[in-house]
Amino acid sequence: MDTIQKSFLGCPYCNIASGKENDTVFIYDDAQVCAFQDPNPDSETHFLVLSKVHIHDYNSLTEKDIALLEHMQAIGNKLLDQANQKKLPTKMGFLPTSFSRVNHLHMQCLTLPLKCNWMRKLLYTPFIFFDSHDLVEELKESCYNL
Ligand SMILES: [Zn+2]
Repeated sequence: MDTIQKSFLGCPYCNIASGKENDTVFIYDDAQVCAFQDPNPDSETHFLVLSKVHIHDYNSLTEKDIALLEHMQAIGNKLLDQANQKKLPTKMGFLPTSFSRVNHLHMQCLTLPLKCNWMRKLLYTPFIFFDSHDLVEELKESCYNL
């Protein structure tokens, strides 16, 4: 019930996370997060891990969310390990709001190489893509500096 109260009306990912949208098959699901294949994959393995509560984007995260973010990472790593039989290099992180299809915190988990066009490949460069480990470090630093 908690998830529904915290969901944001009209947000497609809140609909998916609360199970109201039946077309999305979860590859992982628990009380805090769920994961599903990206409908427009940019690489051989490409899935999203999203928070069940509506968080607009990574800029809205505070030190209170470090545990959630670390949980998202743990799930992302576990699912990547399972899917990535070829042991390809992987990437995990976030795109800024302006480059996201949906503004609800979701972590991109991919194997490399990317298979999208060069324009989309730019999204995954360090200029735009925020690596999830760097994000956790930044949040931890920000609470020491308070
Ligand atoms: Zn949402």
